[in-house]
Amino acid sequence: MLYRELGSTGEKVSILGFGCMRLPTRGQYDKIDENKASELFDYALEKGVNYLDTAYPYHGISNSEGGNSEIFLGKYLYERDLHSQVHLATKLPTWLLKESEDMDRYLDEQLKRLRTDQIDFYLLHSVKEKNWFYLEDLGILEFLDRAVSDGRIKYTGFSTHDETVFFKELMESYQWDVCQLQYNYLDEQIQVGREGLEYAAEKGIGTVIMEPLKGGVLANHVPREVEKIWEGFSRTPAEWAFRYLWNLPEVNVVLSGMNTMAQLLENLKIAEEGFPDSLSDIEKEAMDRVKQTYKEKIRVECSSCGYCMPCPSGINIPHCLSYLNQAAMLKDITNVQSQYYFMLKDTEHASNCLECGLCEEMCSQKIPIRERLKEVKKTFGD
Ligand code: SF4
Ligand code: SF4
Repeated sequence: MLYRELGSTGEKVSILGFGCMRLPTRGQYDKIDENKASELFDYALEKGVNYLDTAYPYHGISNSEGGNSEIFLGKYLYERDLHSQVHLATKLPTWLLKESEDMDRYLDEQLKRLRTDQIDFYLLHSVKEKNWFYLEDLGILEFLDRAVSDGRIKYTGFSTHDETVFFKELMESYQWDVCQLQYNYLDEQIQVGREGLEYAAEKGIGTVIMEPLKGGVLANHVPREVEKIWEGFSRTPAEWAFRYLWNLPEVNVVLSGMNTMAQLLENLKIAEEGFPDSLSDIEKEAMDRVKQTYKEKIRVECSSCGYCMPCPSGINIPHCLSYLNQAAMLKDITNVQSQYYFMLKDTEHASNCLECGLCEEMCSQKIPIRERLKEVKKTFGD
């Protein structure tokens, strides 16, 4: 296994991290198959994986209740006396916080569930611009200071799917140790993007990458045109996606939610060659052609300039169009569709368009916004 330093923490983490939101189950999502999951962990840890990422709701029946991922992980590590040999990361469910006391209550509950006195990496789960000011008012930064000083957590961080501008503001608001970002070769201009990744690395904040395969579509739903570019290289689509990430020195650890031994074996093998700056010029050129092929499927040339905003109905026009583009690039839109509902408020959805046309008068790219929003509605529903 290869290791990289996680930002300025000085911790050496395996470049492949184990994401614990898709563990093997016995049919239902909240019923983890403990034998199979233990087998996977035994093998991964034996091969040097040392970063395990979970969160309060993973493997639960809803996002408002604690799931079984933390409980299983706590039991697994405790029974084998492995807590000191891994870096354990979990997250505070920010959307469940109603009052200041809730933060300590959830952290204390998570410590019990994970059967430890200290969580190595404690991340604020899914921070968004729309909930950040509320969280600040609740005193979330003071809470983090307190939890670090009394030893309940070692390092602080956050995960986000929000955009670069907000991400940079968030970065400036606290002395974070790590950030967890969605990033893959199709997301260079999406969410935090390449700009955000480089910004975090410059500031010495550890970078933990999620969705390296964009919800699996970069491994399983590759268009024929892309397959043709890759002909002649003996690499799987998943291998290209991981190698693209590990080629970047700014990337510290890449999470993968592995739930079969075959996936784990494949990822471990790919990770053996995951050195920074290790792709050849020919390979990088092939990657550029692949990215270009996907980009040619883009439906609308929106530059996200925001001149069309605000919409009197509250629609987030640039974001709606961005999701439409992402869907147009992919064969399987499940992942993009869930982000459309997760990241945008109901009022920001395309279905609220009253067709007043004000946005089109302002659009710098002369986009027929009303027509495109109808497509957004048709693609994702109300
Ligand atoms: S046409 Fe639709 S999206 Fe554009 S400003 Fe009017 S309501 Fe908003
Ligand atoms: S003005 Fe046009 S190009 Fe700019 S964000 Fe709005 S839709 Fe996109």
